[in-house]
Amino acid sequence: MNRARPYLSKSRLISAWQCPKRLHLEKHNPELGETSSATEALFATGNQVGAIAQDLYGDDDSIEVPYEKGLSAALRQTSQLLASDFRHPLFEATLQHDGVLVRVDVFLPDGDNWRAIEIKASASVKDVHLIDCAIQYWVLRGEGVELSSISLGYINNQFVYQGDGNYDGLIIEDDVTERVLERLDDVPNLIAKARAALGDGVPDVAVGAHCSSPYECQFQSHCWPMDAEYPLTGLRGDKGKLGAWVAAGYRDIRDLGAVTDELGKNQARIYRVTCTGEAEVLDGAREAIAALAFPRYYLDFETIAPAVPIWAGTRPYAAAAVQWSCHIEDEDGGIRHEEFLDLSGEPPMRALAECLIACLGTAGPVLMYTSYEKTVIRGLADLFPDLAESLGAIISRLVDLYPIVKNHYYHPKMLGSWSIKAVLPALVPEMSYAGLEGINEGMSAANGYLEAINPGTDMLRKLELEEQLLRYCRFDTAAMVAIVASL
Ligand code: SF4
Repeated sequence: MNRARPYLSKSRLISAWQCPKRLHLEKHNPELGETSSATEALFATGNQVGAIAQDLYGDDDSIEVPYEKGLSAALRQTSQLLASDFRHPLFEATLQHDGVLVRVDVFLPDGDNWRAIEIKASASVKDVHLIDCAIQYWVLRGEGVELSSISLGYINNQFVYQGDGNYDGLIIEDDVTERVLERLDDVPNLIAKARAALGDGVPDVAVGAHCSSPYECQFQSHCWPMDAEYPLTGLRGDKGKLGAWVAAGYRDIRDLGAVTDELGKNQARIYRVTCTGEAEVLDGAREAIAALAFPRYYLDFETIAPAVPIWAGTRPYAAAAVQWSCHIEDEDGGIRHEEFLDLSGEPPMRALAECLIACLGTAGPVLMYTSYEKTVIRGLADLFPDLAESLGAIISRLVDLYPIVKNHYYHPKMLGSWSIKAVLPALVPEMSYAGLEGINEGMSAANGYLEAINPGTDMLRKLELEEQLLRYCRFDTAAMVAIVASL
């Protein structure tokens, strides 16, 4: 191997597979990327699922090759173990071939050979996982390690946790050896592509659908032209099509006059209203709102959906409600507020459901923004059949504000989004989520909740998170009240 050549890790090769420019920027200009709380959560989930896999596959003599002592030590220890008569599960075995470095999540002795399992926190096998395994297989074969098979271990989303610390059944295996062998010849080309991308020149790659697939690229705000007043990304829809318009030189939504017949219905509306520069307010919103009786309940939930369930009776990635906020508007204009948040770490769903039933009473519309609240309440009813009737009665009172807003209002500043975060500053400029410190969107609320219930979190931080969680959820329902008032 040429020693001057830097190692290429598997994750770098996957970046190059998605987009050579992405790999180049990760190496030379990482500061141009934006790491979202969703990406951070993805990493944390991967680590968590990896730890569970080690519990499930390990035995008393299994070994995890540590990385803390450095790469050379990890390579050396792996090589020694594979050359020895060690025949127990081996985790994070570290190998390199021709400058490509891999760490194998799980290595299991299988007769005279080994079988490899790549663990993913995904609920299905995706194309990118096959490339991932092909890279591993290529390195292992290059280093003379014979595999009897290679499998993907992924999340079984039908697994129901019994609450006993036993996650047997959480991970299911799919033997992908055949599919990986079909991809093996692609690996040398991918390595060459990645090495070229790491050079000095920035690869010339146009923006397009690949910017969000298979992963959301962290450089989108750098690569997509954002300097126009109403950038094309504000049209939403298929990113491949948007990328083609960018490549054709279009930058601002208002410039698309020559291609209006290619716009979808929603895009045509966004284009038309953006060209006017003013909000579009259609007849009917006022009537739809006026028809709602009092008291009006404005409801919002926060949920978590961990890959590794933490409470009995829950499934991987199933949303569990952990918090709600409700503003109550009386006919005389009076507004009251109630909320629920339990950070004890015990399953909060039962108390949450009972408090919700008590708060919402038996009459009056329950306003939500998107139908997510309906899904959450249905989930609670499934979990607690004895509460199903009361929860079902609440479902029959739900009124979704989202279609009312979407059908009657659009402002160019919303840039193609009718999310409450986009609508609020347009309709009610004095209110903005941007002013919320700390937790200010759903994913950071879920992460904040999980951090707050972690026994390792100190009391001061827990109090800070509690305040931020309450403020954020309260803001959501206050925003709904303000939107309805302005309509
Ligand atoms: S935003 Fe798109 S073009 Fe830019 S680096 Fe990422 S994937 Fe490549």
